[in-house]
Amino acid sequence: MKTRKLAHAFRIESEKHFRLKDFDPAHTANWRSKEHAEDELQQSIQRMAELQDMLYAQDRWALLLIFQAMDAAGKDGAIKHVMSGVNPQGCQVYSFKAPSEVELQHDFLWRTTRDLPERGHIGIFNRSYYEEVLVVRVHPEILANEKTPKSLCGKEMWEERFEDIRCFERHMARGGTVIRKFFLHVSKKEQKKRFLERLEEPEKNWKFSASDIHERKHWDDYQKAYEEMIANTASEHSPWYVVPADNKWFTRLVVSAVVVATLESLDLAYPKVEDAKRRELEAAKKVLLAKK
Ligand code: ATP
Ligand code: MG
Repeated sequence: MKTRKLAHAFRIESEKHFRLKDFDPAHTANWRSKEHAEDELQQSIQRMAELQDMLYAQDRWALLLIFQAMDAAGKDGAIKHVMSGVNPQGCQVYSFKAPSEVELQHDFLWRTTRDLPERGHIGIFNRSYYEEVLVVRVHPEILANEKTPKSLCGKEMWEERFEDIRCFERHMARGGTVIRKFFLHVSKKEQKKRFLERLEEPEKNWKFSASDIHERKHWDDYQKAYEEMIANTASEHSPWYVVPADNKWFTRLVVSAVVVATLESLDLAYPKVEDAKRRELEAAKKVLLAKK
């Protein structure tokens, strides 16, 4: 598959030399257009379905895919397209909005841990605990509203959150949950274009939210927060992928290539049937064939 290289091209697994500005949101590698990439995307989706079937049957590994991005970068569309071929029984999507009163009664990892994928399953987080080092960092008033004791909210708090996330993800990896994290990297110009479409096209009006325009004012702060987040939480076992997002079709191609490569890197196999079980299957077949 030609997409194999894509799975590596945008992968970050350590903070060494990571700069967001080195990544072009409009990059499309060797693909010229949506049509040009269509066959590859379909092949990836097909392959993903085969691998997911084995993941489910084997029931050992869990896969967690985390999506983070600025508004209108295409998280929802990427999730919808990439997962279009998988069996819904073994795949769950969770979207995380501002935390509720109950959730604020707990530590910042609590609410997402309730929704981690079980073995054999693929879990998708549309936003995640990473919001706690993004929106919460860009907006000090949100932090003030969280109930962490003031004395614990010093300057070193962000470093500490990065460390806690790194330890949490290492713990998950050690137990068999494979984590892949996607930052859909859209340009400010393309975001503006998509917001205008939401305002002008009736079937996209519902997607528009006035607060999205407000967040745009904090663009630079967000880019800085994303850069630090990726640099501090990328690891070999839980890498980040900085996915070019100005062309939605390319985003989908990269994400599906990563999911396929990840599943292929696991020792997936259908469970072996033991002798006793085989005899049971043969006996059942005989009974079925003997009766009308
Ligand atoms: P859409 O693409 O439909 O706009 P969305 O993911 O942006 O999807 P929204 O309901 O628009 O969904 O936004 C969810 C909001 O919740 C975001 O602004 C996000 O920053 C915010 N949010 C998520 N987690 C937290 C958190 N832990 N603390 C504060 N705000 C959060
Ligand atoms: Mg939104």
